[in-house]
Amino acid sequence: MKTTEYDISHPYVATVKSSERITPPDAEEVRHIVLNIPDATFSYVEGQSIGVLAPAPKDFGNENHFRLYSIANAREGENDDLAEIAIAVRRCFYIDEISGERYPGVASNFLCDRGPGDEIRIAGPYGRQFQAPRDNTCNILMIGVGTGIAPFRAFMKHIYGEKKEWKGQVRLFYGARTGMELLYMNDRKNDLANYYDQETFKAFEALSSRPHLDSEPDIEAAIQENSKEVWSLIQDPKTYIYVAGLSSLEKKLDAVISGMAGSEEAWQQKKQELIQSHRWSTLLYD
Ligand SMILES: Cc1cc2nc3c(=O)[nH]c(=O)nc-3n(C[C@H](O)[C@H](O)[C@H](O)COP(=O)(O)OP(=O)(O)OC[C@H]3O[C@@H](n4cnc5c(N)ncnc54)[C@H](O)[C@@H]3O)c2cc1C
Repeated sequence: MKTTEYDISHPYVATVKSSERITPPDAEEVRHIVLNIPDATFSYVEGQSIGVLAPAPKDFGNENHFRLYSIANAREGENDDLAEIAIAVRRCFYIDEISGERYPGVASNFLCDRGPGDEIRIAGPYGRQFQAPRDNTCNILMIGVGTGIAPFRAFMKHIYGEKKEWKGQVRLFYGARTGMELLYMNDRKNDLANYYDQETFKAFEALSSRPHLDSEPDIEAAIQENSKEVWSLIQDPKTYIYVAGLSSLEKKLDAVISGMAGSEEAWQQKKQELIQSHRWSTLLYD
Protein backbone atom coordinates (compact mmCIF):
# COMPACT_ATOMS: atom_id res chain seq x y z
CA MET A 1 0.00 0.00 0.00
CA LYS A 2 1.36 3.42 -0.94
CA THR A 3 0.95 5.90 1.91
CA THR A 4 1.12 8.68 -0.69
CA GLU A 5 -2.34 7.65 -1.96
CA TYR A 6 -3.76 8.73 1.38
CA ASP A 7 -3.64 12.17 2.94
CA ILE A 8 -1.99 11.79 6.35
CA SER A 9 -1.29 15.48 6.85
CA HIS A 10 -3.94 15.82 9.60
CA PRO A 11 -3.31 12.96 12.01
CA TYR A 12 -5.33 12.58 15.21
CA VAL A 13 -4.29 11.19 18.56
CA ALA A 14 -6.63 8.43 19.70
CA THR A 15 -6.56 6.79 23.13
CA VAL A 16 -7.40 3.12 23.55
CA LYS A 17 -10.48 2.85 25.73
CA SER A 18 -10.75 -0.93 25.64
CA SER A 19 -9.41 -3.94 23.75
CA GLU A 20 -11.36 -7.16 23.91
CA ARG A 21 -10.56 -10.49 22.27
CA ILE A 22 -13.72 -11.63 20.42
CA THR A 23 -12.52 -15.02 19.17
CA PRO A 24 -11.74 -18.10 21.29
CA PRO A 25 -8.14 -18.93 22.33
CA ASP A 26 -7.76 -21.76 19.79
CA ALA A 27 -8.85 -19.55 16.85
CA GLU A 28 -7.17 -16.63 15.08
CA GLU A 29 -7.08 -13.64 17.39
CA VAL A 30 -9.45 -10.82 16.51
CA ARG A 31 -9.84 -7.90 18.91
CA HIS A 32 -12.64 -5.36 19.22
CA ILE A 33 -10.74 -2.17 19.99
CA VAL A 34 -12.53 0.99 21.12
CA LEU A 35 -10.67 4.25 20.53
CA ASN A 36 -11.44 7.66 21.99
CA ILE A 37 -10.86 10.55 19.57
CA PRO A 38 -11.71 13.80 21.38
CA ASP A 39 -11.10 16.04 18.33
CA ALA A 40 -14.57 16.94 16.97
CA THR A 41 -13.22 17.54 13.45
CA PHE A 42 -12.92 13.75 13.06
CA SER A 43 -16.22 12.73 11.46
CA TYR A 44 -17.14 9.83 9.21
CA VAL A 45 -19.96 7.76 7.78
CA GLU A 46 -20.52 4.01 7.93
CA GLY A 47 -18.28 2.04 5.56
CA GLN A 48 -15.25 4.34 5.94
CA SER A 49 -11.88 3.28 7.32
CA ILE A 50 -9.25 4.90 9.50
CA GLY A 51 -5.54 4.82 8.72
CA VAL A 52 -3.35 3.70 11.60
CA LEU A 53 0.15 5.16 11.74
CA ALA A 54 2.06 2.45 13.57
CA PRO A 55 5.76 2.97 14.28
CA ALA A 56 7.68 1.42 11.39
CA PRO A 57 10.36 -1.22 12.08
CA LYS A 58 13.75 0.54 12.34
CA ASP A 59 15.36 -0.88 9.17
CA PHE A 60 12.39 -0.05 6.88
CA GLY A 61 13.36 3.58 6.20
CA ASN A 62 9.84 4.99 6.82
CA GLU A 63 8.73 6.74 9.95
CA ASN A 64 5.23 5.24 9.85
CA HIS A 65 3.76 1.91 8.92
CA PHE A 66 0.33 2.88 7.55
CA ARG A 67 -2.57 0.40 7.39
CA LEU A 68 -6.34 0.77 7.02
CA TYR A 69 -9.02 -0.56 9.41
CA SER A 70 -12.79 -0.36 8.87
CA ILE A 71 -14.82 1.62 11.36
CA ALA A 72 -17.21 -0.92 12.92
CA ASN A 73 -19.75 1.50 14.40
CA ALA A 74 -22.30 3.99 13.08
CA ARG A 75 -21.66 7.73 12.81
CA GLU A 76 -23.36 8.22 16.19
CA GLY A 77 -20.24 6.71 17.78
CA GLU A 78 -19.54 3.46 19.59
CA ASN A 79 -21.58 3.12 22.81
CA ASP A 80 -23.54 6.20 21.63
CA ASP A 81 -20.48 8.31 22.40
CA LEU A 82 -19.54 10.56 19.46
CA ALA A 83 -15.89 10.55 20.57
CA GLU A 84 -15.59 6.76 20.38
CA ILE A 85 -15.00 4.49 17.40
CA ALA A 86 -14.54 0.71 17.24
CA ILE A 87 -12.35 -1.38 14.95
CA ALA A 88 -12.03 -5.17 14.62
CA VAL A 89 -8.39 -6.16 14.17
CA ARG A 90 -7.11 -9.59 13.20
CA ARG A 91 -3.61 -10.24 14.51
CA CYS A 92 -1.68 -11.16 11.33
CA PHE A 93 1.40 -13.31 10.89
CA TYR A 94 3.27 -14.13 7.71
CA ILE A 95 5.56 -17.02 6.91
CA ASP A 96 8.67 -16.13 4.96
CA GLU A 97 8.70 -18.60 2.06
CA ILE A 98 12.49 -18.84 1.95
CA SER A 99 13.47 -18.95 5.62
CA GLY A 100 10.19 -20.48 6.83
CA GLU A 101 10.23 -17.98 9.69
CA ARG A 102 7.03 -16.52 11.05
CA TYR A 103 6.87 -12.71 11.14
CA PRO A 104 4.26 -10.61 12.90
CA GLY A 105 2.31 -8.10 10.76
CA VAL A 106 3.45 -4.67 11.96
CA ALA A 107 0.24 -2.62 12.36
CA SER A 108 -2.09 -5.42 13.42
CA ASN A 109 0.29 -6.59 16.15
CA PHE A 110 0.94 -3.01 17.24
CA LEU A 111 -2.83 -2.49 17.62
CA CYS A 112 -3.54 -5.83 19.30
CA ASP A 113 -0.75 -5.19 21.83
CA ARG A 114 -2.11 -1.81 22.92
CA GLY A 115 -4.14 -1.54 26.13
CA PRO A 116 -6.43 1.02 27.80
CA GLY A 117 -4.81 4.45 28.07
CA ASP A 118 -2.27 3.86 25.25
CA GLU A 119 -2.15 6.49 22.50
CA ILE A 120 -2.28 5.71 18.77
CA ARG A 121 -1.87 8.06 15.82
CA ILE A 122 -4.55 7.72 13.21
CA ALA A 123 -5.54 9.55 10.01
CA GLY A 124 -8.56 9.66 7.74
CA PRO A 125 -11.33 8.76 7.50
CA TYR A 126 -11.02 7.30 3.99
CA GLY A 127 -13.22 5.55 1.44
CA ARG A 128 -16.61 7.16 0.95
CA GLN A 129 -17.44 4.86 -1.96
CA PHE A 130 -18.60 2.04 0.35
CA GLN A 131 -21.75 3.66 1.66
CA ALA A 132 -25.24 2.39 2.47
CA PRO A 133 -28.11 3.98 0.47
CA ARG A 134 -30.09 6.78 2.13
CA ASP A 135 -33.49 5.73 0.81
CA ASN A 136 -34.94 3.33 3.39
CA THR A 137 -37.00 1.51 0.77
CA CYS A 138 -33.82 0.19 -0.91
CA ASN A 139 -32.68 -3.40 -0.43
CA ILE A 140 -29.22 -4.05 0.97
CA LEU A 141 -27.32 -7.27 0.25
CA MET A 142 -24.13 -7.59 2.33
CA ILE A 143 -21.60 -10.37 1.84
CA GLY A 144 -18.62 -10.52 4.16
CA VAL A 145 -16.01 -12.83 5.64
CA GLY A 146 -13.81 -12.40 8.71
CA THR A 147 -13.15 -8.79 9.67
CA GLY A 148 -15.16 -7.84 6.55
CA ILE A 149 -18.13 -7.91 8.92
CA ALA A 150 -16.90 -4.65 10.55
CA PRO A 151 -18.40 -2.19 8.03
CA PHE A 152 -21.63 -4.22 8.02
CA ARG A 153 -21.91 -3.92 11.80
CA ALA A 154 -21.69 -0.16 11.17
CA PHE A 155 -24.39 -0.34 8.45
CA MET A 156 -26.73 -2.33 10.69
CA LYS A 157 -26.30 -0.04 13.64
CA HIS A 158 -27.03 2.92 11.40
CA ILE A 159 -30.04 1.64 9.47
CA TYR A 160 -31.74 -0.02 12.44
CA GLY A 161 -30.54 2.57 14.97
CA GLU A 162 -32.79 4.04 17.58
CA LYS A 163 -36.29 4.86 16.31
CA LYS A 164 -35.24 4.15 12.71
CA GLU A 165 -37.15 1.91 10.40
CA TRP A 166 -35.72 0.23 7.31
CA LYS A 167 -38.39 -0.82 4.83
CA GLY A 168 -36.26 -2.47 2.12
CA GLN A 169 -35.01 -6.04 2.52
CA VAL A 170 -31.64 -6.40 4.27
CA ARG A 171 -29.67 -9.61 3.80
CA LEU A 172 -26.34 -10.49 5.38
CA PHE A 173 -24.22 -13.44 4.27
CA TYR A 174 -21.28 -13.77 6.56
CA GLY A 175 -18.61 -16.33 6.95
CA ALA A 176 -16.02 -17.65 9.33
CA ARG A 177 -14.16 -20.90 9.85
CA THR A 178 -16.31 -21.89 12.84
CA GLY A 179 -19.37 -20.57 14.68
CA MET A 180 -17.21 -19.22 17.50
CA GLU A 181 -15.23 -17.19 14.96
CA LEU A 182 -18.33 -15.48 13.56
CA LEU A 183 -17.47 -11.98 14.68
CA TYR A 184 -20.13 -10.10 16.66
CA MET A 185 -22.27 -13.23 16.55
CA ASN A 186 -20.62 -15.62 19.01
CA ASP A 187 -20.65 -16.29 22.77
CA ARG A 188 -18.06 -13.58 23.42
CA LYS A 189 -19.75 -10.72 21.61
CA ASN A 190 -23.07 -10.98 19.84
CA ASP A 191 -24.43 -7.50 19.31
CA LEU A 192 -25.57 -8.35 15.76
CA ALA A 193 -28.19 -10.60 17.40
CA ASN A 194 -30.06 -7.39 18.31
CA TYR A 195 -31.19 -7.10 14.70
CA TYR A 196 -32.36 -10.66 14.15
CA ASP A 197 -35.93 -9.79 15.08
CA GLN A 198 -36.16 -6.90 12.59
CA GLU A 199 -38.82 -7.79 10.07
CA THR A 200 -36.77 -6.77 7.04
CA PHE A 201 -33.53 -8.47 8.16
CA LYS A 202 -32.23 -11.98 7.53
CA ALA A 203 -28.72 -13.32 8.17
CA PHE A 204 -27.13 -16.40 6.63
CA GLU A 205 -24.07 -17.88 8.29
CA ALA A 206 -21.41 -19.60 6.21
CA LEU A 207 -18.94 -21.82 8.04
CA SER A 208 -16.00 -23.80 6.76
CA SER A 209 -16.87 -27.35 5.79
CA ARG A 210 -13.44 -28.52 7.06
CA PRO A 211 -12.49 -26.10 9.88
CA HIS A 212 -9.73 -28.38 11.23
CA LEU A 213 -7.93 -28.09 7.86
CA ASP A 214 -7.98 -24.28 8.03
CA SER A 215 -10.18 -24.13 4.95
CA GLU A 216 -12.09 -20.93 4.25
CA PRO A 217 -15.80 -20.40 5.00
CA ASP A 218 -18.12 -21.85 2.40
CA ILE A 219 -19.80 -18.59 1.41
CA GLU A 220 -20.51 -19.93 -2.10
CA ALA A 221 -22.62 -22.76 -0.65
CA ALA A 222 -24.65 -20.33 1.49
CA ILE A 223 -25.31 -18.14 -1.53
CA GLN A 224 -26.07 -21.11 -3.77
CA GLU A 225 -28.62 -22.43 -1.25
CA ASN A 226 -30.40 -19.08 -1.40
CA SER A 227 -29.78 -18.44 -5.08
CA LYS A 228 -33.41 -17.67 -5.92
CA GLU A 229 -33.61 -14.87 -3.39
CA VAL A 230 -30.10 -13.57 -4.14
CA TRP A 231 -30.69 -13.46 -7.89
CA SER A 232 -34.04 -11.76 -7.56
CA LEU A 233 -32.42 -9.15 -5.28
CA ILE A 234 -29.58 -8.59 -7.77
CA GLN A 235 -32.15 -8.03 -10.54
CA ASP A 236 -34.09 -5.50 -8.48
CA PRO A 237 -32.95 -1.94 -9.34
CA LYS A 238 -33.53 -0.97 -5.71
CA THR A 239 -30.86 -3.40 -4.42
CA TYR A 240 -27.39 -2.25 -3.35
CA ILE A 241 -24.74 -4.96 -2.98
CA TYR A 242 -21.67 -4.79 -0.74
CA VAL A 243 -18.80 -7.26 -0.57
CA ALA A 244 -16.16 -7.01 2.19
CA GLY A 245 -13.22 -9.02 3.54
CA LEU A 246 -10.50 -11.09 1.92
CA SER A 247 -9.95 -10.38 -1.77
CA SER A 248 -10.37 -14.08 -2.63
CA LEU A 249 -14.09 -13.55 -1.94
CA GLU A 250 -14.85 -11.70 -5.16
CA LYS A 251 -13.68 -14.57 -7.42
CA LYS A 252 -15.80 -17.04 -5.46
CA LEU A 253 -18.83 -14.81 -5.82
CA ASP A 254 -18.21 -14.37 -9.54
CA ALA A 255 -18.23 -18.16 -9.94
CA VAL A 256 -21.45 -18.76 -8.02
CA ILE A 257 -23.35 -15.77 -9.44
CA SER A 258 -22.28 -16.64 -13.00
CA GLY A 259 -24.25 -19.84 -12.52
CA MET A 260 -27.35 -17.81 -11.62
CA ALA A 261 -26.84 -15.44 -14.56
CA GLY A 262 -26.51 -18.32 -17.04
CA SER A 263 -22.89 -17.65 -18.02
CA GLU A 264 -19.76 -15.82 -16.90
CA GLU A 265 -20.21 -13.25 -19.71
CA ALA A 266 -23.81 -12.56 -18.70
CA TRP A 267 -22.75 -12.01 -15.08
CA GLN A 268 -19.79 -9.78 -16.01
CA GLN A 269 -22.11 -7.64 -18.11
CA LYS A 270 -24.64 -7.38 -15.30
CA LYS A 271 -21.87 -6.65 -12.79
CA GLN A 272 -20.56 -3.77 -14.91
CA GLU A 273 -24.07 -2.31 -14.97
CA LEU A 274 -24.26 -2.64 -11.19
CA ILE A 275 -20.85 -1.01 -10.71
CA GLN A 276 -21.75 1.88 -12.99
CA SER A 277 -24.96 2.56 -11.11
CA HIS A 278 -23.05 2.37 -7.76
CA ARG A 279 -25.00 -0.74 -6.79
CA TRP A 280 -21.97 -3.05 -6.44
CA SER A 281 -19.32 -1.90 -3.97
CA THR A 282 -16.33 -3.81 -2.64
CA LEU A 283 -13.99 -3.36 0.30
CA LEU A 284 -11.42 -6.10 -0.18
CA TYR A 285 -7.93 -6.75 1.17
CA ASP A 286 -5.33 -9.53 1.45
C1 LIG B 1 -9.94 -0.71 3.03
C2 LIG B 1 -9.29 -1.70 3.99
C3 LIG B 1 -9.92 -1.99 5.17
C4 LIG B 1 -9.35 -2.90 6.07
N1 LIG B 1 -10.01 -3.20 7.21
C5 LIG B 1 -9.48 -4.09 8.09
C6 LIG B 1 -10.16 -4.42 9.29
O1 LIG B 1 -11.26 -3.91 9.58
N2 LIG B 1 -9.57 -5.31 10.14
C7 LIG B 1 -8.37 -5.91 9.84
O2 LIG B 1 -7.88 -6.72 10.67
N3 LIG B 1 -7.71 -5.62 8.70
C8 LIG B 1 -8.22 -4.72 7.83
N4 LIG B 1 -7.52 -4.41 6.68
C9 LIG B 1 -6.20 -5.01 6.46
C10 LIG B 1 -5.12 -4.13 7.19
O3 LIG B 1 -5.07 -2.85 6.58
C11 LIG B 1 -3.71 -4.71 7.12
O4 LIG B 1 -3.39 -5.00 5.79
C12 LIG B 1 -3.50 -5.96 7.97
O5 LIG B 1 -3.84 -5.71 9.33
C13 LIG B 1 -2.03 -6.41 7.91
O6 LIG B 1 -1.22 -5.31 8.25
P1 LIG B 1 0.09 -5.49 9.13
O7 LIG B 1 0.77 -4.15 9.23
O8 LIG B 1 -0.24 -6.18 10.42
O9 LIG B 1 0.97 -6.48 8.29
P2 LIG B 1 2.23 -6.08 7.40
O10 LIG B 1 3.41 -5.96 8.29
O11 LIG B 1 1.93 -4.94 6.54
O12 LIG B 1 2.31 -7.30 6.46
C14 LIG B 1 1.35 -7.33 5.42
C15 LIG B 1 1.89 -7.88 4.11
O13 LIG B 1 3.27 -7.87 4.05
C16 LIG B 1 3.72 -9.15 3.69
N5 LIG B 1 4.73 -9.55 4.68
C17 LIG B 1 4.95 -8.91 5.84
N6 LIG B 1 5.97 -9.49 6.48
C18 LIG B 1 6.39 -10.47 5.69
C19 LIG B 1 7.41 -11.40 5.79
N7 LIG B 1 8.24 -11.40 6.81
N8 LIG B 1 7.58 -12.31 4.80
C20 LIG B 1 6.76 -12.30 3.75
N9 LIG B 1 5.78 -11.41 3.59
C21 LIG B 1 5.60 -10.50 4.55
C22 LIG B 1 2.60 -10.09 3.64
O14 LIG B 1 2.55 -10.67 2.35
C23 LIG B 1 1.40 -9.26 3.83
O15 LIG B 1 0.64 -9.19 2.67
C24 LIG B 1 -8.10 -3.51 5.76
C25 LIG B 1 -7.47 -3.20 4.56
C26 LIG B 1 -8.05 -2.32 3.67
C27 LIG B 1 -7.34 -2.02 2.37
